[in-house]
Amino acid sequence: MYTYYISVGSNIGNRRQYIESAYQALSIYPEVYRITASSILETEPWGYTDQDVFLNAVWHVTCEWKPHELLDILQELEREAQRKRDIHWGPRTLDLDIVYALDKTGACMNINDARLVIPHPYFWDRLFVLEPLMELDKNFTYNGESIRSRIHSLQT
Ligand code: AMP
Repeated sequence: MYTYYISVGSNIGNRRQYIESAYQALSIYPEVYRITASSILETEPWGYTDQDVFLNAVWHVTCEWKPHELLDILQELEREAQRKRDIHWGPRTLDLDIVYALDKTGACMNINDARLVIPHPYFWDRLFVLEPLMELDKNFTYNGESIRSRIHSLQT
């Protein structure tokens, strides 16, 4: 079994519906052992700021898929949401990023290849990832820093 945190975002159309449909679709795979979701937050755009507000959430997924297998599934779910990717960091119906992964022994996985970078390079800088992540695991730490202290320093 592998454990993942997935960052979820949407800022076009029926945003909540895109997020909830993808959650349902993922949860019925037999390879998915357990999935839990944070609440859905409304957040200001990051990077390219001239666009509508996002809904964001984080999912905690325990499953049999190795990281690249999970990425294939997430990209299929994004395609099903008819994602348009015209502008980098721009509007999207559904964006699913693997932000953090634990292997079978519970160790943090580090991957850096042409398709996948884990831990996600920006996750520790983004309140829209960290706030829902803390809702799921208030004891989460990264490089020796607690998530609570990281959120506090990003907010001030
Ligand atoms: P984006 O448009 O920002 O969602 O980026 C999509 C691209 O990022 C895809 O081509 C993925 O192969 C790549 N990618 C690299 N690392 C990750 C990750 N941790 N989670 C999801 N996609 C990733």
